[in-house]
Amino acid sequence: MGMRRLMDLQYDEEIVDRVRQLTPRFAERAAEVDGDPRFPVENFRELSDAGLNAVCIPKEWNGAGANSLTYNLILLELGRVCPSTAMSWNMHSTCASLFFKLADEAQKERILPEITEGGKYFSSVTAERGMSFQHLVTLKTTFTPVEGGFRLNGEKISATVGKHADFYFTSGFLAGKKTAAEAIMTAVIPKESEGATVKEVWDTMGMRGTASDNIIFEDTFVPRENVLGGEDFIAALGKIDITMFHLGFSAAYLGLAEGIYSHLVDYVKNTRYDPNPEPLSHDGQYQSAVGALSSELRAARNLLYEACSVKDSGDGMANQNTVKAVMQSKYISCEICAKVAQHAMRLVGGRSILRRYPFERFYREGIVGVVMPPSNSRCIEVAGKIECGLKGMILQYG
Ligand SMILES: Cc1cc2nc3c(=O)[nH]c(=O)nc-3n(C[C@H](O)[C@H](O)[C@H](O)COP(=O)(O)OP(=O)(O)OC[C@H]3O[C@@H](n4cnc5c(N)ncnc54)[C@H](O)[C@@H]3O)c2cc1C
Repeated sequence: MGMRRLMDLQYDEEIVDRVRQLTPRFAERAAEVDGDPRFPVENFRELSDAGLNAVCIPKEWNGAGANSLTYNLILLELGRVCPSTAMSWNMHSTCASLFFKLADEAQKERILPEITEGGKYFSSVTAERGMSFQHLVTLKTTFTPVEGGFRLNGEKISATVGKHADFYFTSGFLAGKKTAAEAIMTAVIPKESEGATVKEVWDTMGMRGTASDNIIFEDTFVPRENVLGGEDFIAALGKIDITMFHLGFSAAYLGLAEGIYSHLVDYVKNTRYDPNPEPLSHDGQYQSAVGALSSELRAARNLLYEACSVKDSGDGMANQNTVKAVMQSKYISCEICAKVAQHAMRLVGGRSILRRYPFERFYREGIVGVVMPPSNSRCIEVAGKIECGLKGMILQYG
């Protein structure tokens, strides 16, 4: 038995450094993005200008060609300073990558340059009132066949990037069909399409700057050439790995957790209570808390790295190893994020709820990750199924 490699971790340092040049400015804007709230348009523009609008698209198609680890290291950096930017950018980037995987050559040649060179953005437009990503996927939005394409009707919710997007990456059922397995379709809808409007309703406790508004389609014409995945979308979807969304949430929330933790450590090193001449960092209670949180953060980071490695060493499809690794990573990152946010509040004490400190914002942002789909309860159910030798699926189509 010779030596074997345990993990093959490679990332593009130059790309991650490009992001690190931008994040100090994103940090300065974060309170305003949350407080207004407003979509971080400047951050998106700066990411585009830095050549990161199509970060995971292969270089031969003019993308940056980032692998999973590079991509998630970027999200860690963004999550540390501005979770709304991290989340929105994950939704856009994942839609761009899904588009790349599902589109035929003609669709790629027609639409991809608008993203790679034109700096345009996707919004992920799937969720609807009354549907859940934890149970059987059901949609009320319909594609009705007409000459040359379809008419789209329905109201979508939580469409991150919202009115700032140029393309809606949208799913619905073929009219008359009842189950996702026989009916689901996905298409790219240019935002200026007739009958497509944005209803600005996003008013939340965390992720306030994501502009995840409702998108309404009223008899919107969708040309056949904008439908993705051919006749059998489920079959096309079954051949690709959709876990980029979910691992991205893991990285964004772990980044946020690390950001909160850094502020907490600075705070305990620089805060003193009378009559003690030493700062809080000299107190055993604070030392233990920092020791415990840093250990958990380190474990979560390693789990994220391992999930990136499992994902990239797979066959490009979401096999069960990838699904399990991603679900476990998303679960742990979001649990630790909620924990760091809550502990920071308790450790800082009463002043943590004052708006002049960042901890109340961190608390609101930090506890939201556990409900981000797949919610943490779904993550452990799927991981548990796989551990028990059953098939674990992130989305259930019937
Ligand atoms: C910050 C943020 C950004 C988002 N961005 C987007 C986006 O860009 N695009 C997008 O498409 N979506 C997005 N979403 C997802 C969307 O908002 C909802 O999370 C999604 O529609 C699922 O709804 P839910 O979270 O309310 O319910 P779920 O968490 O799915 O369900 C709530 C509870 O009801 C139970 N339940 C649900 N259905 C059943 C059933 N049939 N039987 C028994 N129990 C059931 C569940 O088990 C769970 O306990 C975003 C969400 C967040 C938080």
